[in-house]
Amino acid sequence: MESVSSYFGSMVFNDTAMRRRLPHDTYDQLQRTIKEKRHLDIGLANIVAHAMKEWAIENGATHFTHWFQPMTGITAEKHESFISPVSGGKVIMEFSGKELIRGEADGSSFPSGGLRATFEARGYTAWDATSYAFIKDGTLCIPTAFCSFGGHALDKKTPLLRSMQALSKQALRVVKLFGNEDVHYVDSSVGAEQEYFLIDKSVFEKRKDLIYTGRTLFGAKPPKGQELGDHYFGTIKPRVFAFMKELDEELWKLGITVKTEHNEVAPGQHELAPIYSSCNIATDHNQITMELMQKIAKKHDMVCLLHEKPFAGVNGSGKHNNWSIATDTGVNLLNPGETPAENAQFLLFLCAIIKAVDEYQDLLRISIASAGNDHRLGASEAPPAIISIFTGTDLEEILKCLELDIPYGGKEKELMKIGVHTLPRFQRDTTDRNRTSPFAFTGNKFEFRMPGSSASIADPNITINTAVASALKEFADILENAADFENEMHKLIRRTISEHKRIIFNGNGYDDAWTKEAEARGLCNYKTTPDALVHLLDEKNIRLFSDFGVYSAEELNAQYEIRMENYCKVIRIEALTLLNMVNKDILPAVSTFLQQLCDSYQAQKATALPVEPLYESSLIKDLTNKRNQLFERKNQLQALLNTDQTYYDITQRAFFCKDRILVLMNEIRVLLDEMEEVTRTDVWPYPTYGAILFSVK
Ligand code: ADP
Ligand code: MG
Repeated sequence: MESVSSYFGSMVFNDTAMRRRLPHDTYDQLQRTIKEKRHLDIGLANIVAHAMKEWAIENGATHFTHWFQPMTGITAEKHESFISPVSGGKVIMEFSGKELIRGEADGSSFPSGGLRATFEARGYTAWDATSYAFIKDGTLCIPTAFCSFGGHALDKKTPLLRSMQALSKQALRVVKLFGNEDVHYVDSSVGAEQEYFLIDKSVFEKRKDLIYTGRTLFGAKPPKGQELGDHYFGTIKPRVFAFMKELDEELWKLGITVKTEHNEVAPGQHELAPIYSSCNIATDHNQITMELMQKIAKKHDMVCLLHEKPFAGVNGSGKHNNWSIATDTGVNLLNPGETPAENAQFLLFLCAIIKAVDEYQDLLRISIASAGNDHRLGASEAPPAIISIFTGTDLEEILKCLELDIPYGGKEKELMKIGVHTLPRFQRDTTDRNRTSPFAFTGNKFEFRMPGSSASIADPNITINTAVASALKEFADILENAADFENEMHKLIRRTISEHKRIIFNGNGYDDAWTKEAEARGLCNYKTTPDALVHLLDEKNIRLFSDFGVYSAEELNAQYEIRMENYCKVIRIEALTLLNMVNKDILPAVSTFLQQLCDSYQAQKATALPVEPLYESSLIKDLTNKRNQLFERKNQLQALLNTDQTYYDITQRAFFCKDRILVLMNEIRVLLDEMEEVTRTDVWPYPTYGAILFSVK
């Protein structure tokens, strides 16, 4: 068997490939352009394109595509072949610098939130040279940003790159205050843990709800779920193992550093984690990972469910976004150091994050809001919709002592003076350290646990990067002009802790008491997507994004439109699917079953048995009642769907979806689950939860 190191990254036009295939000076020039984030000139692009094409063809590629991430959160590609006709009816394989650096995409069907009039439907894609080109399915994929001709971002990569730049610029100012002159840029690093379900293809194909919506819209609780906890980190089944093995290999070829794979809490649930990388790369890699997971599952006759809550009553799936910031000299700024200066720098960055998360808690909540994630947040296994930071009790105590200027420590209690004394060693808290906290400090990084499993991690990272950039800017503005740096920093840290400590919470986030306390602390608790999203356009949020050049007010408006609209569409599709299932399958099936019960009842009556056939008589009554209620409710749902169309205003429509349509769908669900429990197995038209969750043997 081939060793992993021999094929790792073999399908990526990475640094090694570039070094090998590009003339020395071209390679150097390209590296400089990438580092300085400048535009590639056409001469250089032509040479790079040629080398890239030769490499791609040798590795089996026949086509190329500009691979981009429209605002829908998925990836898009338009394949073009390398062939170019020459005389004599022959073709040659061609790929020019122009084709490498810029493409035109007729993106009129991608949502633009009004940023691009349909008569000017074209957008253009531009190579993001910081992310390597790769080969997927015989196609050379060039990671690109997608913009309108007016220069508006129509994708998630553009604002992400902008946010990284903003963060780097401000972090650099702070780092320089500590004399780190050798640092040229600061990058955010991300490791995204991905949760997912695997189910057998045969059960998937029998559930229209899974096919159309990615989640089950009903399903009675199975006799056994996750209560025994026997799946978590359990032995991996051979079929799943074969899937993971192939997935690992394919991801490794693409230079994606998947590291751990294990079973998760719910039956059929698993998790995959890569080794962290730069925020932009991690985002691209996570998109590719999701795509490959789905594709490879199919090859193994399984389906990979990425929905945040495919099944009620068992855990949903998230995507833990581990985030830290590091210098290009390799220093993780969230690592408490060994010297007083390193500690002071760490504390300053920690405070910037505390301030950022507190001031922009609404934006963080918004960044992960989706119709799917609404079913997961606040459920028993997921963090609540309230944002708070977990520091661990030791660090919290240290912050408190700093704020109040009181001694910290066991025997020889000591007053801490920032920049003079080293921080007391604090424990990396491992007891329940992050299970219930949405934003947990885990020693040298923060783990944001709220992102949903199906979403791109671009949005949360755009938000974290920008909010932290803003806090760092304020700090740098103050400290660069300080007469007495250490003294000013000490004051700044104390003030920040005092103003923003309300966001720190080390208790149990699943506890009802926390919801009350959070309210008393004035923290936001936006339970649903529309409740959260309406704050996207709050003045302070528009100011944040436009001040740092991440989103213009126009672009943010477009975001709002697109996301609200997406929410409405998802719920509408779910409601239509539910109606289809009820009308075409469930009502007829229940009628069939009732008929069988009536036949049986009558047959028994005819034999003149001395006792009443209770099973039949009581069930006929109960089921007929429920069927009538179901009939009524589904007619109401149909009527609501007709009304919904008439709401022109997108905000009103979203609230209508949430307050009326979803509520009614839930009522229908309760009825369906009760009916399923008593209907004969062979008559009920859909695989049950038990059959689905335990379908992979
Ligand atoms: P834990 O199990 O404590 O959550 P892991 O070491 O398993 O931690 O890491 C989980 C994820 O966090 C992995 O993707 C890992 O690469 C990533 N990670 C580790 N260190 C950092 C860091 N400094 N910055 C960002 N991500 C990190
Ligand atoms: Mg983790």
